[in-house]
Amino acid sequence: MIIAANLKTNFTRKKTKEYINELEQFLDGNSVSEDVLVFPTSSSLDSYDGKVVVGAQNSYPTQNGAFTGEIGLEQLEEFGIKTILIGHSERRHVLGESQEFIAEKFDFFKSHGFKIVYCVGEPLEIREAGKEIMMDYISNQYEGIDVDYENLVIAYEPVWAIGTGLTPTLEDIADIHKNLKDISKAPLLYGGSVKVANAKDVLSIDNVDGILVGSAALKVNDFISMIKFADELDK
Ligand code: PEP
Repeated sequence: MIIAANLKTNFTRKKTKEYINELEQFLDGNSVSEDVLVFPTSSSLDSYDGKVVVGAQNSYPTQNGAFTGEIGLEQLEEFGIKTILIGHSERRHVLGESQEFIAEKFDFFKSHGFKIVYCVGEPLEIREAGKEIMMDYISNQYEGIDVDYENLVIAYEPVWAIGTGLTPTLEDIADIHKNLKDISKAPLLYGGSVKVANAKDVLSIDNVDGILVGSAALKVNDFISMIKFADELDK
């Protein structure tokens, strides 16, 4: 399974290094077969050559150039970063990225062979409008995206569940994941208020191939507990 931590705008470079080192120590001392991904904030990216895969939370689709405040491929290549999050709800809804721009980013990083963790998910008002409207909304987030890309991982993250402590029922997650697997066979993560208390249940659902964790991953021991759950379920 894939167990991923989105650190968002948290931790300094030093604290990020400590965090990743603690994860490495755990992975070195235990025969864990899970894929562990960590997405630090851009200024904390660095060269890491252990088992933890370090990815970027964002990048402009460019080698380099005049894009004030952004980083591009050149800055990722410096650290050998080959994994990126695209389409996260905070970039869609807080930072205003359009589907067109997200698809452009996707194409750019696909053309450079990146592993892309591509996020989809509906806001509350869409969910409340019923299943058909909700699935239409989510389907539109696949527009312009190569769903057969070999290095694709999808994360279903309902917007209303991110950072709120709210989660869909296990039955709802199972139902939506089943529908999303009809769109793409790529590994499908669930994200949105996953924590130690619910991670085992979420990881046990059919068609859940892992989790993307925000707030609850900030405590490294909690994140390690979730990796252990996945490992137990896989054995
Ligand atoms: C996220 O931002 O990807 C996320 C899942 O956040 P949280 O776990 O805090 O809901």
